[in-house]
Amino acid sequence: VVAVDGNLSVVHQDNVQFDSELPEFGNSMMISQALDLILGKMKNAGFDFSRVKALSGSGQQHGSVYWRKGTNQVLRDLQPGKSLHELLKGGFAVSDSPVWMDSSTTEQCQYLETAVGGAQRVADITGSRAYERFTGNQIAKIYKAQPEKYEDTERISLVSSFAASLFLGSYAAIDYSDGSGMNLMDIFSKQWADSCLEATAPHLEERLGAPVHSSAVLGLLSPYHVTRYGFPEDCKVVAFTGDNPGSLAGMRLQEGDIAVSLGTSDTVFLWIKEPRPTVEGHIFCNPVDRPSYMALICYKNGSLTRERIRNKCAGGSWEVFSSVLRTTPIGNYGNIGIYFDAMEITPSAVGVHRFDKENTKVAGFSAQGEIRALVEGQFLAKRVHAEKLGYKIRTRVLATGGASSNKDILQVLSDVFDAPVYTIDVANSACLGCGYRALQGDLINGIDWLSLPHYHKDEMVFPSPKSNVCTVADLCSNTLAALD
Ligand code: ADP
Repeated sequence: VVAVDGNLSVVHQDNVQFDSELPEFGNSMMISQALDLILGKMKNAGFDFSRVKALSGSGQQHGSVYWRKGTNQVLRDLQPGKSLHELLKGGFAVSDSPVWMDSSTTEQCQYLETAVGGAQRVADITGSRAYERFTGNQIAKIYKAQPEKYEDTERISLVSSFAASLFLGSYAAIDYSDGSGMNLMDIFSKQWADSCLEATAPHLEERLGAPVHSSAVLGLLSPYHVTRYGFPEDCKVVAFTGDNPGSLAGMRLQEGDIAVSLGTSDTVFLWIKEPRPTVEGHIFCNPVDRPSYMALICYKNGSLTRERIRNKCAGGSWEVFSSVLRTTPIGNYGNIGIYFDAMEITPSAVGVHRFDKENTKVAGFSAQGEIRALVEGQFLAKRVHAEKLGYKIRTRVLATGGASSNKDILQVLSDVFDAPVYTIDVANSACLGCGYRALQGDLINGIDWLSLPHYHKDEMVFPSPKSNVCTVADLCSNTLAALD
């Protein structure tokens, strides 16, 4: 939990660790009890609930919760003397709710793509081709494997709208941004797509409820929390969203920005106006600006691959790795490498592939050439995929994650994107972003996100590109050909 004031300054934060504080669970009940716990901790810390004007939140994307028939009434009648956990016992039709790691729905994905007209068609409608973890495919599996549980389900929530329901005291709507991670919503009309609903399960629309925009005020906080914790009666509940959209808000992305997280896996977030969905990467509705979109691209081969090449070519030292980047030329004499140690997500391919300046496949590079080929190749792929999804205007690159502490890696990032790189500290970005969104929903609903006070905080400026634009563009087309 993060509380921000009207100037976006953080005034309170705390957390509940599921593994250590709630080891006995593994399901939706855990989230209800976690909410009891965190609010109790805030109360003990003397947090002044009476000053809360609005709240919002984020939850792990794609996960889903199945409310048993009759539970909406239970939510409406919550008695303040009891914990949410006690009150909601027995309220769920499916106890082992699917989470994002589930990848057991390949059959359902194939069925959806065939029924709707192919992978690209599913992407054109929903922003992504069919993915195993996406909620629609999870629902289809539950319907097929446990039809009686689907029948007993009154409402299906995402983790985000589930948590919102606990505050609202009735089923909360799914927001457009998190709803984009389901393979069920038309991201352009922002309605459930009939063709996808039909391929998933019967009578699904009534179980999902109508989606709403991400800064919609869903209603006032349930009297349960007002009595129990002392929130004001007019405290607003703003739609909750997914953790990735929440992070986009927390990182204060703007149009033209690209955020690159360089962790175990690499992730790219983009803010775009005119998306072009492809079968690689995901397009979601933007959580802070209604007409805009965000794109998300995940790469499995990130830091672990950089570590392997560091060990092989730089004696295991980041220092040596960095000095090679400093002393080798941009463009690597036309040598390009693609290093997929593990089966890559974007694109679905594996293996190491090296090309010289004639675009001829070669067996190896020098140790120095290999290091530069790896880092340039990883960043060129990110730029190529981002541009395929509609990324045009380049303003800033925001870098986070473990490898963002390496200036020489960031210099390559800057050269490839031909834009200045900023490093940002994004601890709790999803949670912080939802504090910002609560303020947006409360104060300036419908007004430009960028007019929020102190939105443009100066971050640490990092390297500017040294390269010449033509060289980088040439490199990109070369990589595109290689990737194809
Ligand atoms: P996670 O995705 O697990 O949260 P982090 O964002 O913490 O990962 O990043 C961890 C990675 O950062 C490590 O795998 C390591 O390879 C990488 N890393 C740490 N320091 C450096 C450095 N100086 N240069 C390049 N990479 C680094």
